[in-house]
Amino acid sequence: MAETIFKKIIAREIPADIVYEDDDVLAFLDINPLSKGHTLVIPKEPAETLDQLSADAAAAVGRVLPRVAKAVLRATGAKDFNVLQNNGTAAHQAVLHVHFHIIPRAGKDGLGIGWPTQRLEPHEAKLLAQQIKSHL
Ligand code: 5GP
Repeated sequence: MAETIFKKIIAREIPADIVYEDDDVLAFLDINPLSKGHTLVIPKEPAETLDQLSADAAAAVGRVLPRVAKAVLRATGAKDFNVLQNNGTAAHQAVLHVHFHIIPRAGKDGLGIGWPTQRLEPHEAKLLAQQIKSHL
C-alpha cells in the first residue's frame, strides 16, 4: 500500500487536530470541513478500502464511532449528522487509507447527496441476494 497523508498523521510526521486516539484508532478534524466539526475516524491498520480492512480493525473503529459522533454533536450543538465512507475513485475516495467522515448537519452545508433510485424487480433481487450470500 502506498504511503498516505493519514499514515503520516498517525506517525505524527505531519500535524492534525487530534480528538481521539487509542491503540487501533485515530480521530482528527478534517482539514477542509464540509461543516463545523467535520471529523475523520481512521483505523491505524493501513488498508486502502473497507473491504480490505481486518475484522478486528473494523471492530475497533466501530466501537469508537458512536462515542466520537456524540462528542462532535455536543461540541457543535448539531443534532443531525452523516457518516460517510468512500471506497475507490468512482466513490470519491481521495485518500487511500480507510476513513469514516462524521459530518454534522445543520441546515444547508457543503454535503450534497444525490439519491437516484432504480427499480429492482423481485426476481432480480432474489438472484442478487443469492449471489451476495454465496460470497460471504
Ligand atoms: P475522501 O474523499 O478520501 O473520502 O476524503 C478525504 C478527506 O481527507 C477530505 O475530506 C480531505 O479534506 C481530508 N484531508 C486530506 N488531506 C488531509 C490532511 O492533510 N489533514 C486532514 N486533517 N485532513 C485531510
